[in-house]
Amino acid sequence: MNKRVAVIGGGIAGMTTAGALSALGFNVTLIEKEEQTGGHVRNWDRLFPSRRHSAEVFDFIEKNMRAGVEVLCRSIITSIIYDSGAFTLSFENGSSLKAEAIVLATGYELFDARKKEEYGYGIYDNVITSAELEYRFKSGKKITTHNGTTPKRIAIIHCVGSRDEKVGNLYCSKVCCVTGVKQSIEIREMLPHCEVYSFYMDLRMYDRNFEELYFEAQQKWGVNFIRGRLSECAENPDHTLVLKTEDTLTGRPLKMTVDLMILLVGFVPGEETRKIARMLGLQSGPDGFLLSTDEHVQDNSTSIPGVFLAGAVKGPACIVNTMADARATALQVNGFLNPGHE
Ligand SMILES: Cc1cc2nc3c(=O)[nH]c(=O)nc-3n(C[C@H](O)[C@H](O)[C@H](O)COP(=O)(O)OP(=O)(O)OC[C@H]3O[C@@H](n4cnc5c(N)ncnc54)[C@H](O)[C@@H]3O)c2cc1C
Ligand code: SF4
Repeated sequence: MNKRVAVIGGGIAGMTTAGALSALGFNVTLIEKEEQTGGHVRNWDRLFPSRRHSAEVFDFIEKNMRAGVEVLCRSIITSIIYDSGAFTLSFENGSSLKAEAIVLATGYELFDARKKEEYGYGIYDNVITSAELEYRFKSGKKITTHNGTTPKRIAIIHCVGSRDEKVGNLYCSKVCCVTGVKQSIEIREMLPHCEVYSFYMDLRMYDRNFEELYFEAQQKWGVNFIRGRLSECAENPDHTLVLKTEDTLTGRPLKMTVDLMILLVGFVPGEETRKIARMLGLQSGPDGFLLSTDEHVQDNSTSIPGVFLAGAVKGPACIVNTMADARATALQVNGFLNPGHE
């Protein structure tokens, strides 16, 4: 089989699809715009629900991919043209590549928390995002306030940029509830004297062992879960934060001072994905994520023959779902390039 597949996006979706296609006997080129492959997961420290290190997952994916995949990092696509059964991808450095099929695995971006002005991200020193907390865990840095003191009370805020009509995102980002629960446990592990308050609308612990993690956070680690949406955050002269919310279970307004606030930012469709989608003529749904041919039975193919989708480019997903989706994409590509062998 001399056919080539170009996989665009070197996150776990792209890496898994590339590895599976290579194992099926195709020539595969994996194209990543950044310095290295790995996507967002490269930045995460310990993964929910088991809290294993992300490096273990990478070892597995990399071993499965290295077999014969050509990896092009720092590669920016400038155009894609289809002609006589093949796509020609042109790059910023003047080079080009021909492929019989394309897999778009360009993932997602994080919601820009500055858009929720009332939460003070980018204005107040002690407001950070869940992704920034992961970078701190990963780099082995202590959890401190901006001026280096140990926080005595931390608030975790759910649904930042998701399930929010005001910012135009009605969808749920699926993984932030469990990320928040995992991070609340890690904070309590590191700072046993720090109180942790988690403010949620409702907790979506949808997958295996998620509910158990939530139970552990309450029972073993004493994390406080309060049902209520943050309405406002203000900064005191000493840089602590005053949060105003309502406990919707008791119906009482609530005011609380905390030293650090963590915003569980959701997934948004990526600008780079939009560019490639425009080059290919792909459609996106009302949520901005790319549309497949059929959400139930053809969820990896698109309206353009020879162009396929894998992973979070279609919307929020955890690692296990992303990897399962990526393998399904490889089978669909095989069916397209090798009819009769689906
Ligand atoms: C804070 C946080 C913590 C999380 N923790 C966990 C966890 O513990 N466990 C879990 O199961 N899931 C977790 N997730 C979810 C996990 O991040 C996703 O499942 C995963 O990143 C999806 O992988 P992906 O490859 O589809 O997308 P991405 O990770 O977004 O990868 C996409 C890749 O495509 C590249 N790309 C984009 N555009 C282009 C282009 N035009 N050309 C070339 N390359 C391009 C990007 O640079 C990137 O490398 C977490 C998510 C968040 C937000
Ligand atoms: S997973 Fe939880 S925090 Fe994230 S958008 Fe859904 S309900 Fe909100």
